[in-house]
Amino acid sequence: MPIRIDPWSAEMPEDYTKLLEEFGIQPFEPMLADIPDSHHLMRRRVIFGHRDFGRVLDAMLHGKKYVVMTGLMPSGRMHLGHKLVVDQLTWYQGQGADIFLCIADLEAYAARGVSFREAKKIATDEYLTNLLALGLDLSKCRVYFQSRSDVVRHLAFALARKVNFSEMRAIYGFKGESNIAHIFYPMVDVADILHPQLEEFGGPRPTVVPVGVDQDPHLRLARDVAGRFSDEFKFILPSSTYHRLLPGLSGEKMSSSRPETAVFLTDSARGATSKIKDALTGGQPTAREQRKLGGDPDKCVVFGLYVYHLMPDDKKLFELREACKTGGLICGDCKKRAIELMLGFLSDHRAERKRAHAKAEKISALATE
Ligand code: SF4
Repeated sequence: MPIRIDPWSAEMPEDYTKLLEEFGIQPFEPMLADIPDSHHLMRRRVIFGHRDFGRVLDAMLHGKKYVVMTGLMPSGRMHLGHKLVVDQLTWYQGQGADIFLCIADLEAYAARGVSFREAKKIATDEYLTNLLALGLDLSKCRVYFQSRSDVVRHLAFALARKVNFSEMRAIYGFKGESNIAHIFYPMVDVADILHPQLEEFGGPRPTVVPVGVDQDPHLRLARDVAGRFSDEFKFILPSSTYHRLLPGLSGEKMSSSRPETAVFLTDSARGATSKIKDALTGGQPTAREQRKLGGDPDKCVVFGLYVYHLMPDDKKLFELREACKTGGLICGDCKKRAIELMLGFLSDHRAERKRAHAKAEKISALATE
């Protein structure tokens, strides 16, 4: 049976290799040698696949203009899974990319029923404040709300002329009871991805969209549609990179709507501590067995926290992995260290958020005026 990826599902794709084969995603690893000062998420194969990243890399290496396009749906609190994308944006900004940041309030309305007023509040207090606190210079990004962008709305409508319902159903699995706003929404997403290539935004130029693999349906549709309009708009097919999803603390997909699955960027020290204490590990049932048999870091959510966020030093990470596998480290001590590192991060982040909030309000006001 063919695999279907649903960007709105709470399921986590299990077999990444199968996904590469089924959807023709290229492995990212061969790109690594040519990337200057690669991000640790690239080196650690968290970013594992791409489509046409070569043309973006070429622009990067030759000082040509290129765009990184990203979106956030303001429907809940930001967790470490969201931070994964922000870390990539910050890296791209350091590499000279033009960053377009879409606040997907139309998506929040269509898929989650969040009002535009509420979406603006969440986008400001939660997302923009966190992004600034994480080091992204939003004054150098083009930040916009979908519902306020005439260009995106008009482009979505124009591009929809060459997409039919059967295609949307095949990609997204829409059913008879799906609401029309939700069915149309992917066209808005396609317009988000392609509009930086319009002449008025300095296009056409290479564009990369860094996403979790669950977002691939939007990318496939955007690339197909770009090809259909290449004469009219001179679109270059958008590139994409794919990262593995950070597993939730209990093993399933991390989700804002299930607080027990995620460490949120605004969690209290107490809350984060108890979540990590309860997190699923790849350890043995007892410390004695762990010392004898070792643990399995590849099945361990706590190790995932180290890989994605807590331990940027590759050598230290490798040592921790070896200690786990050989029984030199037991889960209690390992979790204790993860908690210390996490609390240090959350405390610094809290201070940065306080400094960033007023600026986030200004950016939000400018984007909606
Ligand atoms: S020692 Fe650490 S990395 Fe190894 S299984 Fe236990 S918690 Fe996971």
